Amino acid sequence: MEKKKMSLVSKIMIGLVLGVAVGILFLSNPSIPDNYIKPFGTLFLNLVKMTIVPLVFASLVVGAASIGDVKKLGRVGGKTMIYFFVTTAFAVFIGLFVSNVLKPGIGITLSLSEPVVQEAAEAPSLVDTIINIVPTNPFDALVNGNMLQIIFFAILTGIGATFIGEKGQAYLNFCYSLAEIMYKLTEKIMNLAPYGVFALMTPVVANNGPHVLLPLIRLIFVCYSAYLLHVLITYSTTIKIWSRFSILQFFKGGAPAFAMAFSTSSGAATLPLGMKIAQEDFGVSESISSFVLPLGTTVNMDGTAIFQGACAVFIAQVYGIDLTLSQQLTIILTATLASVGTAGVPGAGFIMLTMVLSSVGLPVEGMALIAGIERILDMGRTTVNVAGNLSASIVVAGTEGEIDYDNAAVLIGNKKASKAANL
Ligand code: ASP
Repeated sequence: MEKKKMSLVSKIMIGLVLGVAVGILFLSNPSIPDNYIKPFGTLFLNLVKMTIVPLVFASLVVGAASIGDVKKLGRVGGKTMIYFFVTTAFAVFIGLFVSNVLKPGIGITLSLSEPVVQEAAEAPSLVDTIINIVPTNPFDALVNGNMLQIIFFAILTGIGATFIGEKGQAYLNFCYSLAEIMYKLTEKIMNLAPYGVFALMTPVVANNGPHVLLPLIRLIFVCYSAYLLHVLITYSTTIKIWSRFSILQFFKGGAPAFAMAFSTSSGAATLPLGMKIAQEDFGVSESISSFVLPLGTTVNMDGTAIFQGACAVFIAQVYGIDLTLSQQLTIILTATLASVGTAGVPGAGFIMLTMVLSSVGLPVEGMALIAGIERILDMGRTTVNVAGNLSASIVVAGTEGEIDYDNAAVLIGNKKASKAANL
């Protein structure tokens, strides 16, 4: 008899519940989980961290090279990139705003194993951050994991490789292959997430008590509110201005892609369906949809950016660290850039969160808390990512006169319905 395989989400949920239960059992004796269970959680986090530098570097080189090609597409390319960056920066802003207002992390204070508070207070100013983006020694940046410098160098070498054409191909192929390897490893590492989550949650609950979970529920609420706000404010405005579709039609037509994104947590896996919907339901021309959507799946992740903004504030609150305005601006900058380097696969945005956290000196160990609910947050953010790319294809096509409204299924469906109602 064939056995149905349990989904990763269910396994992670079981890991989470078991972690909490075992944590409660050891409330009076937290040294046992600290000594025997926590190392496995650290191992899991180390595995996650291991992939960061090569993943960011290689995927950004490849992403930047595809943006380099964008130049050939001139105006369309420019519009697309502007739409991507502006909506993403706005998305992080919404994420920061909602979590600053709703304060999901207030109410508990976790202590740090290392005193990072000091470091956060001394985080460099925005001007210094910008100056330091340019690495004087890029290899030093790679070795030390200086993310902003790595991003800068990766983007430049990606664009440089496209300038020299054939001669740059070997480098791009290498980076492409490295990026693919890292995506695969990410996927494999995420399979260990149920055990990692268990091992991370148990000592946290044993040391702090089960009330530590309340902020997590609040964080889920904060992220989903911000996701919704972004879709309702940003996309409905842009779609209304630059196309003839209503936001309801956008939801209705996009629904199958959103459902797929929600259940797979993978923008890349949703791409084929997204392209079909853009073309058939919204009448977006093939040239625009086959350019904007694949590019967007690589570089445009509004949901991920919201998540990163909200989680950075959450972690700061949980550890009692005050974020200055310039630190919050740095978060907007790094989260926008991080979303460029995030792959459209489950869990990628979580890995990139380390980059956002370290850019403002927040403790990366705070991710242990979020790990347990990461998949729940991923489902929502992937849906926003996919919605963002669909909206980009509609807006760009709308401004280029590349939407065939007469053959857009969402409109035809309505016409048919209203005709039927008239009969
Ligand atoms: N899962 C997301 C996506 O595929 C990426 C992320 O983890 O944020 O779009």
